[in-house]
Amino acid sequence: KNPLLQVSDLSVTFRTNGDTIQAVTGFSCQLNNGICTAIIGESGCGKSVIAHAILKILPKTALVSGSVQFRGMELHDVSPDEMNTIRGRQIGIIFQSPDRALNPTYRIFRQLVEPLRNHRVVPEENRKEHIITTLRKVGFSHPKEAALLFPCNCSGGMNQRAVTAVVLSLLPDLVIADEPTKGLDSFRVSDVKSCLMEIKDEGRTLLLVTHDISLARDLSEELLVMYAGEIVESGKTHDILQSPIHPYTSGLLKSLPENGFIPIPGSAPSYANMPSGCRFQDRCEYATEKCNHKPECIQKHGRMVRCHLFC
Ligand code: SF4
Ligand code: MG
Repeated sequence: KNPLLQVSDLSVTFRTNGDTIQAVTGFSCQLNNGICTAIIGESGCGKSVIAHAILKILPKTALVSGSVQFRGMELHDVSPDEMNTIRGRQIGIIFQSPDRALNPTYRIFRQLVEPLRNHRVVPEENRKEHIITTLRKVGFSHPKEAALLFPCNCSGGMNQRAVTAVVLSLLPDLVIADEPTKGLDSFRVSDVKSCLMEIKDEGRTLLLVTHDISLARDLSEELLVMYAGEIVESGKTHDILQSPIHPYTSGLLKSLPENGFIPIPGSAPSYANMPSGCRFQDRCEYATEKCNHKPECIQKHGRMVRCHLFC
């Protein structure tokens, strides 16, 4: 069976005042129907760039190579008009802040009805019922009353649910959530989590881009760990979090509060000055001479890992 989304050898380069910065190098992944895949890594590792490249919302200065196939269709070849119909309707997006996605001058009903009308998702006579059903699904116990509210009448959690309702009402096959919990307090994180759970329960495919490992643990079946623009380890979320193989993944897990809060020493290399060998070598306690050569991704215990320790 074909994957819903197949990304192959994706690289993204930005040109800024004469410098070229390769933010993502040779990224590949496959999203299967109904599965949640999480991309984790520190901020600046390129994970959001991947999400934006898939959606084709990168700035014009970005050079993108490689292939992104959605239902077998090469998205690089799709026109901007076609892409506008795919975005929202077939690929839903949940951004960091619901305020960015809601129009403050529209009642909740209108936030939902306009995209439904534009994308012609349900026949006109069924729209109202569809909206009420969707609002109930995302946790509004009085959806008819909620539909009449403006965003400023709602709590942050209600607006989060409204944004999720807008995304879900369009019945997308794939939902991409880009750092949905960044900068939120723990109450709001649990709102976001329950909204994402609802998307999963609907059987939709989810790509979760996050620095929040506990969110990835609770939601995803598949995990991709990124470091400095590359995947360093990928496989089943449970397996990786139980027994990480790559030294970076181990470091990331040790830096969690529940595991002792031990930070990885040093910082990620600068994109303008990337080491030619392993990109983690300056911070790795196992680094040897060998690590001056770039490690390839290899299969190990049913996962992929990029490290000379396992070659
Ligand atoms: Fe560490 Fe070498 Fe593995 Fe890189 S390749 S993670 S430096 S052991
Ligand atoms: Mg980001």
